[in-house]
Amino acid sequence: MNLGFTGKVALVTGAGSGIGAAVCRQLAAEGAEVIATDVDADAVRLVVEDICTNGGKAHHVALDVADSGAVERLVAFAVQTCGGLHLAVNNAGIDGVRKATADYPIDNWHALMDVNLHGVFYCMKYEIAAMAAQGGGAIVNTTSILGSVALPTAAAYTAAKHAVVGLTKAAAIEYARSGIRINAVAPGWIDTPLSTENADVASSRRMMSLQPMGRRGTPQEVAALICFLLSEQASFITGSVHLVDGAYTAH
Ligand code: NAD
Repeated sequence: MNLGFTGKVALVTGAGSGIGAAVCRQLAAEGAEVIATDVDADAVRLVVEDICTNGGKAHHVALDVADSGAVERLVAFAVQTCGGLHLAVNNAGIDGVRKATADYPIDNWHALMDVNLHGVFYCMKYEIAAMAAQGGGAIVNTTSILGSVALPTAAAYTAAKHAVVGLTKAAAIEYARSGIRINAVAPGWIDTPLSTENADVASSRRMMSLQPMGRRGTPQEVAALICFLLSEQASFITGSVHLVDGAYTAH
C-alpha cells in the first residue's frame, strides 16, 4: 500500500525501542522524513543510523517527554529545520511499579503520569499548534488495552492509558475542522522490552494463557496500524481508539 508519506515530516517519541522504533522504520520506508526521539540517546541514534543505512531520511534527538520545554523546542526544530510537522506518534511510555492501589508509592504515581499522560499532552499541545498553523496533520497516541480494561497492581498505568483515550477524543473534536486527525492505538501484549523486562516466568505463562491467538503481537503489527491511521487512507477516521490485541479484550 502506498501511504503517501513522501515529503512528510514525522515525529515519533519513544523511538529507541519496540513499537516506536518499528514505526520509525515503516514511516521512513514509506518515504517520510522521520524525527526519532527518545530519552535513551544511544538507542535512538542506533535506530536512526540503521534507517539511514537503508536509504531512509531520519534525525535522532534525545528527548524526555516529561520536559515540556524540550518538547516545545523539538517541535520548533521540526518546523524550522525540516520545514514543517505533518505526522506525529506520541508513543513513549513506561510500565511503572506493580503494587495494589493502597500500596502504590506516590512518587512512582507521579513519575508514571509525567511520562505516560503529561508527556502525551505536552507533545499534542505543541504538535497541534504547529499543524494548525500549516493547515493540518495527523496524530496517533499509543494507549493500551489498559485504556479500556484494567490490570490489578497497575492502577497508575491503567489510569494514565484511560486518560490518553479521553485526551485523544477531546482534541480530535476540537481540531476536526482544522484538518488535524487525532486517533489512538490500543496494543495488547506486544513483544517489546516494556512487556518482558519485569515479567517473571509465572506471570508470563499466565499472560500467554490469556492470549486467544496463543502469542504476543509484534511491534511491526502495531506500527502497521499506526502508519495506516497517519495516512490519507484513514481520512475519515478521527477521535477513535483502535485495538491491536489479538482478541484479548474480546473475552
Ligand atoms: P519499549 O520499552 O520497547 O519502548 C519504550 C521507549 O520509550 C523506550 O525506548 C524508552 O527509552 C522510551 N521512553 C521511556 N520514557 C521516556 C521518556 N520520559 N521520554 C522519552 N522516551 C521515553 O516499550 P513499547 O512496548 O514499545 O512501548 C511503546 C508504547 O506502547 C508505550 O506507551 C507503552 O505503554 C505502549 N504499550 C505497550 C504494550 C506492550 O505490550 N509492549 C502494550 C500496550 C501499550
